[in-house]
Amino acid sequence: MKTIEDLQVAGQRVFVRADLNVPLSGGEITDDGRIRAVAPTIAKLVQAGAKVVVASHLGRPKGEPDPQFSLAPVAVRLGEILGVPVAFATDTVGESAKATVAALADGEVTLLENLRFNAGETAKDDAERGAFADELAALADLYVGDGFGAVHRKHASVYDLPARLPHAVGDLIATEVGVLKRLTEEVARPYVVVLGGSKVSDKVGVIDNLLGKADRILIGGGMAFTFLAAQGHEVGTSLLQKDQIPTVLEYLERAKANGVEFVIPVDAVVSGGFPDLKTKAPVEDRRVVDADKIPADTLGLDIGPKSGELFASKIADAATVFWNGPMGVFEHPAFADGTKAVAAALLDSDAFTVVGGGDSAAAVRILGFDETKFGHISTGGGASLEYLEGKTLPGLDALEG
Ligand code: ADP
Ligand code: MG
Repeated sequence: MKTIEDLQVAGQRVFVRADLNVPLSGGEITDDGRIRAVAPTIAKLVQAGAKVVVASHLGRPKGEPDPQFSLAPVAVRLGEILGVPVAFATDTVGESAKATVAALADGEVTLLENLRFNAGETAKDDAERGAFADELAALADLYVGDGFGAVHRKHASVYDLPARLPHAVGDLIATEVGVLKRLTEEVARPYVVVLGGSKVSDKVGVIDNLLGKADRILIGGGMAFTFLAAQGHEVGTSLLQKDQIPTVLEYLERAKANGVEFVIPVDAVVSGGFPDLKTKAPVEDRRVVDADKIPADTLGLDIGPKSGELFASKIADAATVFWNGPMGVFEHPAFADGTKAVAAALLDSDAFTVVGGGDSAAAVRILGFDETKFGHISTGGGASLEYLEGKTLPGLDALEG
């Protein structure tokens, strides 16, 4: 792969595919980690005298403009972080984008509106995606791929556009891939993987590949309840994917055969309903129960304190830890203890620690941990998981050669 240093960027229009998909609440950015992560790449191009055209998706709009997913607040924040003004184009390939790019002087930056306001970005049809990539290509001379969180997507700006322009890999993706290599090739052992969060079906898949690689797999968050149910326990109204139970049972069998230790929660924090994440009102009926005694009319919203201690003990002597997915609904203080316990255990260990996943990365910062104390906080959840699954990532493939 070529790097930015291999391109002649001075005076050229350089398209930077970034991942600026940050969490927003009422138009406010609640975690700017992804903006800060790609800022050094943009700053480097500014320094080198490029005309920088930044583009990203945000959320999941339906292929047409939708104000709630506008990147406008991100342009402001990016400008603050870079310390230079960032011109904002109110469309992606239309009149505003063309005029804004044409007005760029060397060393200036523009951010285009949300790529997914155009159906061509995510189209399954190659021709439709290609047509949109052609329009994007007309805005630039060179392409830098640095949106790590999107490299597992076969999208126009990720996959088709680099084929149309001289291209290089950005510094963020280069760093992220370097870290993932440390998790797949010559891994320092014991290698402990902690999985949680809510996207159960997305995450069950990675276990398949990890069964041949990790020494211990700790399961918390929503997917823990599918494991508990597989062992015949009542899980009340907790997140549960019944159709995954046979897969989970097969994993447990294979783990035994491969000498991989599976650790699932021994207790859980439950309540009669999902907490109000806006008001964060106290949860009167919050209680801790053993994992085999979850009342049928409650749902599990965090791992319990005994599980937190158990997980910490399994992390303490690790040499490598990969963590993806919060242990509970950390957005509410009543259900953040399990996630805090795991974050603290990572910091207490001497391991090379990697945190992946948008919400997991946001969680460690929002819960007050010093992000610089972790080995690496990845900007990509799905992308990291698919890499660890051993899949080919379209956005990395496109940057080869
Ligand atoms: P990441 O973005 O780090 O990959 P996910 O998107 O998979 O993580 O999951 C994050 C979400 O999982 C958080 O919003 C959290 O509230 C939710 N979550 C964690 N544990 C549970 C649970 N037991 N029940 C429901 N949601 C959960
Ligand atoms: Mg998430």
